[in-house]
Amino acid sequence: MTRAALASILAVVGLTGMTLPARAQLPPGARSAPVADVRYELTVDSAAAAARQIGVTMTFRVRDSAPVLLALPAWSPGHYVLLWFASRVTGFAAEQDGAPLAWGKADHQTWRVVPRGPGEVRVTFQYLANTIDRATAWTQPSFAFFLGTNLFLYPVGRGFLWPATVTVRTEPGWRVTTGMMPGADPGTFTATNYHDLVDMPFFVGRFDLDSVSVADRWFRLAWWPAGSLTPARRDRTFEWLRKIVPQEVAVFQEAPFRNYTIFLVSDTVVNGGGLEHQSGQMDEVGSNQLDGQLSGLYAHELFHAWNVKRLRPADLVPYRYDDIQPTKWLWVSEGVTDYYGGLAQVRGGVMDSAGFFNAMAGAALSVFSEPPTALSDASLSSWIGSADGSSGLYYPKGALAGFLLDVMIRDASDGRHSLDDVMRGLYRTTYKRGRGFTPDEWWTAVARAAGKPLAPFREFARRFVDGREPLPFDSVLPLAGLRMDVDTVGEPRLGITTEVDSGEALITSESAPGAAAEAGLRVGDRIVSLGGVPLVDETSFDAFRARWANTAEPSFPAVVRRGGAVLTIQVPVRLFFRLRVDVTADASAPAKAARIRHDLLTGTVER
Ligand SMILES: [Zn+2]
Repeated sequence: MTRAALASILAVVGLTGMTLPARAQLPPGARSAPVADVRYELTVDSAAAAARQIGVTMTFRVRDSAPVLLALPAWSPGHYVLLWFASRVTGFAAEQDGAPLAWGKADHQTWRVVPRGPGEVRVTFQYLANTIDRATAWTQPSFAFFLGTNLFLYPVGRGFLWPATVTVRTEPGWRVTTGMMPGADPGTFTATNYHDLVDMPFFVGRFDLDSVSVADRWFRLAWWPAGSLTPARRDRTFEWLRKIVPQEVAVFQEAPFRNYTIFLVSDTVVNGGGLEHQSGQMDEVGSNQLDGQLSGLYAHELFHAWNVKRLRPADLVPYRYDDIQPTKWLWVSEGVTDYYGGLAQVRGGVMDSAGFFNAMAGAALSVFSEPPTALSDASLSSWIGSADGSSGLYYPKGALAGFLLDVMIRDASDGRHSLDDVMRGLYRTTYKRGRGFTPDEWWTAVARAAGKPLAPFREFARRFVDGREPLPFDSVLPLAGLRMDVDTVGEPRLGITTEVDSGEALITSESAPGAAAEAGLRVGDRIVSLGGVPLVDETSFDAFRARWANTAEPSFPAVVRRGGAVLTIQVPVRLFFRLRVDVTADASAPAKAARIRHDLLTGTVER
């Protein structure tokens, strides 16, 4: 059923009170009167932050009294869900020469303002900024994060290629950090078009800022709360950037941004994850993740500076902001980005080859754990989040498809070409010419890099991208001297939670039907060893599970300390089965395959 059909059915049955999707109320082709000299003034001071609001004023010139239609985006590019930023607007008002203007809603996300005649019009509203999300404005008592898609109204039907300035009114001593071009006056910024205008995150308030020069560019790191990145955490981040950035620049052979900013928010309650922008990334992480391996997040979002922010499927060029913009190609935009995020880390020395193989094995495990899903179908489902869990599969499965194509190209070209040639070639022939790539262009570029006819790659697309056949790991991975082993492993579980300290594990809780409870182990017992494996730290449990995996024994001994006594108690074996995937280097691979594996891990091609 199409949306138009739904609308007519609702009209027939008289459900007039319902909200219809998308543009149902705005006539097709509706167009605002032209506006010029667009300026936005934002009030982000301590009163606004405390009220969890951002004050927005938009001023522009009009030629006459023709109605102006102003809309706020329904989504933010990169975050493929509808957020309807207009829903957070309160206190909307419009005036000309100090006197109020007539206005009304033209549809759920569009305001219709009627000027009295030629001159300057001023529109004001408050934007509610009380929800943390990497694409949505959020304030704290002395801090605000926002993105242009949240706040900047655009005239409907007038394209997006018009310049604008932004002025931020804030407190003395508060910082303003954004990727926007600084204007002539302090606190003022400029953009030459709306796409750039809304792709620049802002931090305003009290937060920390530092920078490092890598690959001839300044990389800024802005983090809130101030102090959350200790000097050691900051240094570690800069060290990752020194290793990752050159590897990603090498793929495209240019860094297409003036500077680059990592905006980092950490808190106890966050959604988690990052959102890419053309010259930065907005990352939200849990406070307890700040010592974790964030290099993967940074590498992924940075690779987007080329892949999707610049090189992207034709379906996404240009961006529209009023409604969903579906594409079947998120497996390239997101999955291949994930693959290169891993490559940048292994090539730069942030992770070793085993870490990279584990990442690919983990991706395969994610794919095997969900129903067979076509990459193109998963891409389309991102907008609605399918209940069967398949809609995010374009990340891991897309990474694996990119991995296999890379190996196939390297093998077919005898190591002279790689997926890098595809990415760099399309970047030059499509993005640099102001457009997106078509499916034909993608597969032609793959075939050309491989030096092969198009037909086998069309077949790959038919079976593994648009179809649901399992990816051909067994035939492709050996070309790079790799093997994938998929197994079901039964591991003994005890049904307890523990705290490990001083070389023992204190039982803190038990689930009633668990093996430990059945054997008579009690909360408060301190486990000294399990099945002959001494419990020295958390990894001891992994060693225990590995030692007793798939065992046929009916029970194993647990040595526990209870009060002053040391007891040995037989615990019944209760196996829980899970899928296990391993990707490993084959030590006896032929010379060519070993060379391709080496080239892939080091970013080398044979010349
Ligand atoms: Zn991404």
